[in-house]
Amino acid sequence: MSRFFSEKYSSLTPYTPGEQPQDTKYVKLNTNESPFPPSPKAVAAAAEAARRVQLYSDPECRALMKKFCAVFGLEPDEVVFVNGSDEVLNFAFMAFCDETCGAVFPNITYGFYPVFASLNRVPYTEIPLRGDFTVDVDAYCGVGKTVFIANPNAPTGVALSRAEIERIARSNPDNVVVIDEAYVDFGTETCLPLIRRYDNLLVTQTFSKSRSMAGARLGFGAGDPALIRDLNTIRYSTNPYNVNSMTMAAAIGVLDDEDYTARNCRMIQENRAFTVDALRAMGFTIPDSKANFVFARHETVDGETIYRRLKERGVLVRHFTRPEICDYNRITIGTREQMQILLDTLKTVLEEARA
Ligand code: PMP
Repeated sequence: MSRFFSEKYSSLTPYTPGEQPQDTKYVKLNTNESPFPPSPKAVAAAAEAARRVQLYSDPECRALMKKFCAVFGLEPDEVVFVNGSDEVLNFAFMAFCDETCGAVFPNITYGFYPVFASLNRVPYTEIPLRGDFTVDVDAYCGVGKTVFIANPNAPTGVALSRAEIERIARSNPDNVVVIDEAYVDFGTETCLPLIRRYDNLLVTQTFSKSRSMAGARLGFGAGDPALIRDLNTIRYSTNPYNVNSMTMAAAIGVLDDEDYTARNCRMIQENRAFTVDALRAMGFTIPDSKANFVFARHETVDGETIYRRLKERGVLVRHFTRPEICDYNRITIGTREQMQILLDTLKTVLEEARA
């Protein structure tokens, strides 16, 4: 830390992103990216847009907004685009939380929530998940704080139903309820249809996972126009050009290729079912996942050993050191070939660990 670093950030512990090795020697199952390339329509559109990057991107994202609203059935004043959904989550902490209105989220969830809370000096409460990793819905009803719930949750993959989320939104009419749907396209009901019924509900999604655009950085928030205006106040006060023109073009391309996205999501769900069955047969316990990853604990071999030995053999998964979950690894669902390599490598790792 330099002697110039503001005291207000001196105790901040930043988020630790998953490893991004720059060589290709790993089967990379650690950051929940799509194993499929972006739609060729997205690639072509981005390349074309690159020819005009001497100009600023459109702060109103008009061309993307038109296409997006047609596909999602939303109105432009219900949507804000952001540089990855992390950005809209941070904006929500900035806009809807303060010293008097703290945040609440599960104790095991996306690791960025406590970081955003600390960054914005927002007091927060963590509500324990139940023993089976489900979110304790009753504990959020009438909680009187800004609620953040990832649905499906990360790193567990466990999802709530739309009716359960609705109960949380209905019981907190004077607080914003943020539903982070980063992984919704892999088998969870979206809460987007609820935003017109609950003016306190903000739904966030990303193009990083189901639409294979993690490196392009595009997310969105959807909610009542008044919420969106607040988020735009923050956006225009930080970076109105937060979404670059190549990314916007790529997004229009991928939204023109919804069949491609649907096919990829179907394949991930098939590969997930295949992987879960095989892992359970090898002695792993896995909560029912609706995401493009599974959270797996072995009956005899500890999580850190599995992570380390897989990595030595070229398979990268995500291990968390927090004591409550250190027996688990989060494994991204990839192609069938990648899953077969994972299973074959795990077999060796488990045999060695038992020897
Ligand atoms: N929410 C959750 C639960 C996530 O796991 C992630 C990805 N790390 C994000 C939001 C943010 O994704 P992005 O910024 O790429 O949209």
